[in-house]
Amino acid sequence: MSGVGGPATSRDLHGKVAVVTGGGSGIGLAISERLAADGAAVAVVDRNAASADEAAAKIDADGGTAIGVEADVTDRTAVEAAVAQVAQSLGAPTILVNNAGLEQFGPFLKIDLDTWQRVIGVNLTGAFHCCQVVLPHMLQAGWGRIVNISSSSAQGGQPYMAAYVSSKAGVIGLTKSLALEFGPKGITVNTIPPGFIDTPMLRASEAKGRLGGPVEEHEGRTPVRRIGRPEDIAAATAFLVTEEASYITGQVIGVNGGRNT
Ligand code: NAP
Repeated sequence: MSGVGGPATSRDLHGKVAVVTGGGSGIGLAISERLAADGAAVAVVDRNAASADEAAAKIDADGGTAIGVEADVTDRTAVEAAVAQVAQSLGAPTILVNNAGLEQFGPFLKIDLDTWQRVIGVNLTGAFHCCQVVLPHMLQAGWGRIVNISSSSAQGGQPYMAAYVSSKAGVIGLTKSLALEFGPKGITVNTIPPGFIDTPMLRASEAKGRLGGPVEEHEGRTPVRRIGRPEDIAAATAFLVTEEASYITGQVIGVNGGRNT
């Protein structure tokens, strides 16, 4: 019901500018395409310039508005330059999806400091940089939406993934803290921990024998009896960035086919 005084129900994102990190592949690509289809102008930010440009070109060809922007989220100067470019080309960003991520497997006692710092650097500090650089635009607008892509592995733990799981647990903590700090300013901050989504990252893990068998074998162990699709994460993200989701903040919204409850 959207009667007088009721909640706004529009999911239309026309007039909004979104930054999606790691937008050139997998989940980030599906999120970029979905937000553009819903009307947002999308900055596809990726360390892989070719994939960012390709994604933006496809969105444009499909009738949306997008630009590809090369940036490594661990590089503060690059993030600042990327967001300045977005603001100049598309307008001030008020939607941020921190999706860029790096996986890590291996016994805990064999993790060297460089690996630990690299994984935390991309998955957690990268989100820190992007939040700090984009939030001033949201504060200026008095409105903002941040969706951090964490991982279901941080909900239950995962052996041989200590650096990854720690980084993603940090993302959940960052989300909750920012939600409380910026809620009074019209900005919501939520996290989606995906579980088993068919992307290049998952297929790379499969190829390295880290999934204990083919991806398809996991269908029978997944309550909804299918593997997740990048579009599943995009759909949840698309909802969280709407006006309609303005009372949802600080939440961990699992999208995992029931693999974690
Ligand atoms: P993906 O296909 O590997 O896509 C990740 C994208 O992020 C790639 O384009 C990658 O570029 C980019 N990227 C990596 N490091 C970056 C950096 N430092 N700066 C900017 N861009 C960077 O992986 P995905 O499966 O879609 O994963 C997306 C997110 O979901 C990640 O945060 C991941 O941890 C999370 N997640 C995925 C699953 C799953 O089942 N797939 C489950 C839980 C969580 P390159 O191609 O150059 O590396």
